[in-house]
Amino acid sequence: MQFIETRGNDGVKPKEVSFSEAILNPAASYGGLYVPKSLPSLDEEFFKKHQASSYKELAFDLLKKFDIDIEDDLLQEALDLYDRFDDPKNPVPVVQVRDGLYVAELYHGPTRAFKDMALQPFGHILSALAKRRGENYLILAATSGDTGPATLETFKNKPNIKVACLYPAGGTSDVQRLQMVTEDGKNLKVIGIKGDFDDAQTALKNLLASERFKETLSQKGIKLSAANSVNFGRIIFQIIYHIHAYLELLRRDVITFGQKIHLIVPSGNFGNALGGYYAKKMGTPIDKILIASNANNVLTELIQNGRYDLRNKSLIKTTSPAMDILKSSNVERVLFDKFGAARTKELMEDLATKNYYELTSEELAALREDFDADFTTDEEVAATIKEYALEHRYLMDPHTATTIKLYKKHKEYPCVAYSTAEWTKFAPSVLQAIEGRTARDQEALEAISKRLGVAIPDRIKELFSKPIIHDTVVEKEKIEEEILRFL
Ligand SMILES: *Cc1c(COP(=O)(O)O)cnc(C)c1O
Repeated sequence: MQFIETRGNDGVKPKEVSFSEAILNPAASYGGLYVPKSLPSLDEEFFKKHQASSYKELAFDLLKKFDIDIEDDLLQEALDLYDRFDDPKNPVPVVQVRDGLYVAELYHGPTRAFKDMALQPFGHILSALAKRRGENYLILAATSGDTGPATLETFKNKPNIKVACLYPAGGTSDVQRLQMVTEDGKNLKVIGIKGDFDDAQTALKNLLASERFKETLSQKGIKLSAANSVNFGRIIFQIIYHIHAYLELLRRDVITFGQKIHLIVPSGNFGNALGGYYAKKMGTPIDKILIASNANNVLTELIQNGRYDLRNKSLIKTTSPAMDILKSSNVERVLFDKFGAARTKELMEDLATKNYYELTSEELAALREDFDADFTTDEEVAATIKEYALEHRYLMDPHTATTIKLYKKHKEYPCVAYSTAEWTKFAPSVLQAIEGRTARDQEALEAISKRLGVAIPDRIKELFSKPIIHDTVVEKEKIEEEILRFL
């Protein structure tokens, strides 16, 4: 399987690249992204066969269908990392919460958020490719709190890789910060920035674009890369669990083969939702992918009205920070799939220059064949967390809670809602929602655990007594210097 570019080819880069090329060098022509040239299709036989198989078997066979240039042994090793999840046999439990509402829990990996689903196997493959090529990479990551811990965890002590992770000092939860600053791999550097997530992200983009920085690195024999969610090496692992969720409902006789379901996805950069879209296109009987947002509701506007409009918008900080995003990068891959490279390039250029683009009514209708969307305010999120914890005995984090409004609107099919983080990562918001009081993470964790009889995983408990390894907090201007000192 070869990969092509969402904004067309500039005549300098190759017209098509292999999977390993696309993940090591993810920047395509004109600022575009790599996408598979075609998607494999799954027939009834594939679903019937995998009704009895494990998550890893499903994943392996699915990846084989993509025919990527990664050999079987390496794929298998990468998938074996799912053995580190709470239940190695079933890394993604699907829990029935109400009539017609099934929550697929994507947070049972080492850092308790859904980023592990892709970053665990992806990190292993990237490091193995780098080693094989005899190349050394510096991976830059900027995080609002979930990507950082998952990136550090996957690359910790891996050969041929160093990681520099930037986070906004004071801008994450205690649990998220401790997950980063207590990581002890020798190849990891965690840097707090005096600023917010946007500052961290801007610093990262500037470094990735800086020829001077690249030159300095190349003198040290180091190449620069990023493990952000536009890398197709992450997306490919995010197709699997949507198919797994469908199979789970089949296994439990909630549906028979061919009956449709909805997926409800708490969305930020649209990687998770894109995986669902690809799963549908490959033949999984999914009616719609329902896009849940918080008060940063650009995706709701796009899918309801066909307008991506940032002209009078600024980022709103919410209790679901991983979804506080205005430029949702992976939407571009859907635009490409539906409207082609020339139109995608035009739309993305409009967004860059005018902060705005608008789909035609035919284009909007095409988008709405696969998607619907709605957004939820922080107040509604808090009320949902409280209602579900106390009345339905299901504890959810603020990101997961944004899915419920769409479940209520779309009861025509069984709904699989994705839980993207464990409540333990956002305990202060959850306690605030349930008891209306403020506390820091450690106190909030204990209060909720006691009141609702839910366990706190050891990995979270231990954080509060682990030694702090990374205490660097710097001004934005000092980031580059700090990274070079580490190298
Ligand atoms: C990253 C993240 C999201 C958003 O996922 P995308 O694939 O970027 O849309 C939602 N919830 C949580 C908890 C996350 O960490």
